[in-house]
Amino acid sequence: MTLNNPTADGFVPQQGLALDAALSRTTHLGIGAHQDDLEFGALPGILDCFGQPDRWFTGITCTDGGGSPRAGVYADYTDDQMKAVRVEEQRTAAMVGRYSAMLQLGYPSSRIKDSADPGLKDELVALFEASRPSVIYTHNPADKHATHVAVFNAVLQALRERPQTERPQAVYGVEIWRGLDWMPDEKKVVLPVDGHDHLIASLQGVFDSQIAGGKRYDLAAAGRYRSNATFFASHGVDTTSNLVYAMDLMPLVENPALDPADYVIGLMRETEAAIRQQILEVS
Ligand SMILES: [Zn+2]
Repeated sequence: MTLNNPTADGFVPQQGLALDAALSRTTHLGIGAHQDDLEFGALPGILDCFGQPDRWFTGITCTDGGGSPRAGVYADYTDDQMKAVRVEEQRTAAMVGRYSAMLQLGYPSSRIKDSADPGLKDELVALFEASRPSVIYTHNPADKHATHVAVFNAVLQALRERPQTERPQAVYGVEIWRGLDWMPDEKKVVLPVDGHDHLIASLQGVFDSQIAGGKRYDLAAAGRYRSNATFFASHGVDTTSNLVYAMDLMPLVENPALDPADYVIGLMRETEAAIRQQILEVS
């Protein structure tokens, strides 16, 4: 397997294992726009596979890390130096999380957001063929970061090109920039991330260049997981203390005629109807 961009980085944490072999044993695949998106959004997949002999997580980061904010010890770094730091941080997370493989595809954001450029979509089609995962985690179409939505779009287009019999069993659109609390409860996919606080701290903490930039993504995400679990149901005790919410993307994969905007607006309308109904009932 050769990656398309000259700056792309294919990394296998297990010494002596070839990239092709690492890809073919993949069961859970996370596809994120930026370095660190997987460790915040695809965390359930990373934790499901951690230390399991029959489950392997592979990560794909699509962008090259260009244009990243920089502060503190990174303040004087050039854009190229910053890109190198971010690649190294993502490799470190792959080692901490014992991923099967970590692919950093090296696309500039501008190319991913260019809907006339099929580069990322075509490369994902080849990577799906090489890895054949059962479960995929990626961005959801209601995220507020344009590059995240563009990555979602490339993943969806690539999955729709796969033969029906070779598609994954589940495709989840996870929350990063904008939570998914607004979704109707019965439509939320709830993915527990319990019992691994120390591992989560390590996986997210390696992204020093982003957190040192002034945003405590690690603390914010921990708060979101806790908040999701506590506020999910108003009655009864919590059976889980940390949850990631996700949107089921399989209806979009299975129905090529279904527009992502219509799918999201449909979910919003369900929430709107439920809120309206509750106000009417108590008025
Ligand atoms: Zn991102």
